[in-house]
Amino acid sequence: MAALVDSHAHLDMFEFDADRDEVIARARVAGLGAVVTMGVDLASCRRAIQLAEQYDIVYAAVGFHPYAAAELDSKALSELEGLCAHPKVVAVGEIGLDFHREGLPPRPVQQQTLNRQLDLAASVGLPVAVHDREAHEETLESIRAWVQRSPGYEDRPRGVMHCFSGDVDLAREYVAMGFLVSIAGPITYPKSDQLRQVAREIELESLLIETDCPYLTPAPYRGKRNEPGHVGLVAAAVALERGTELVTVEETIGRNARRLFRLP
Ligand SMILES: [Zn+2]
Repeated sequence: MAALVDSHAHLDMFEFDADRDEVIARARVAGLGAVVTMGVDLASCRRAIQLAEQYDIVYAAVGFHPYAAAELDSKALSELEGLCAHPKVVAVGEIGLDFHREGLPPRPVQQQTLNRQLDLAASVGLPVAVHDREAHEETLESIRAWVQRSPGYEDRPRGVMHCFSGDVDLAREYVAMGFLVSIAGPITYPKSDQLRQVAREIELESLLIETDCPYLTPAPYRGKRNEPGHVGLVAAAVALERGTELVTVEETIGRNARRLFRLP
């Protein structure tokens, strides 16, 4: 199986409506063996599962993004639980906290929705894909409490901190709790020294790579739409930072992704 895995994509978004087949064909050519596409609300979760049924290399994660945190009532939660039983659903995500601007659901609503979905993941035995944007302290607090109240996960990582934006110390805290840390396209941006340090200092066995496409396009394509086939640029940036052979980076990180998501 091809080594590369894009651990976080949004293939259901309208940006791919015109050429989704070609995007996935290019991902295969680029050596990807799997792409995990994230749901952000109920409709998007259903589309993610449809794509996973349609394309062999696509797997789905299901969850309510912090933007949609207010939509997770008890009916939605039980529907989400039903979706978790699908054989190609490999994680609960994208879930988390996002405090970067006004107009998002109130913090307590986001926190309650995150906590409910963390508990759902533990109850169905899936790992989590966590979004933390300008909410480092509060996200860490929720995850810590979840780790303490939820045993299990002895034989696999608990989840991934997607598009990691904290410092090395925060990354180490998550690794110590059984999380992987995912590096995205910003590693190629001039101002991302802190992220490059994370890519250098965290052991390769605890890293993942992702595109978060259609967003966060790595250089030299920054400014254009992102797609899973660009994840190799992130792998190359990690290899360059570490002074490690690209093939070692790709194989180790691919193994990490398969261990987390239990991919074939
Ligand atoms: Zn995302």
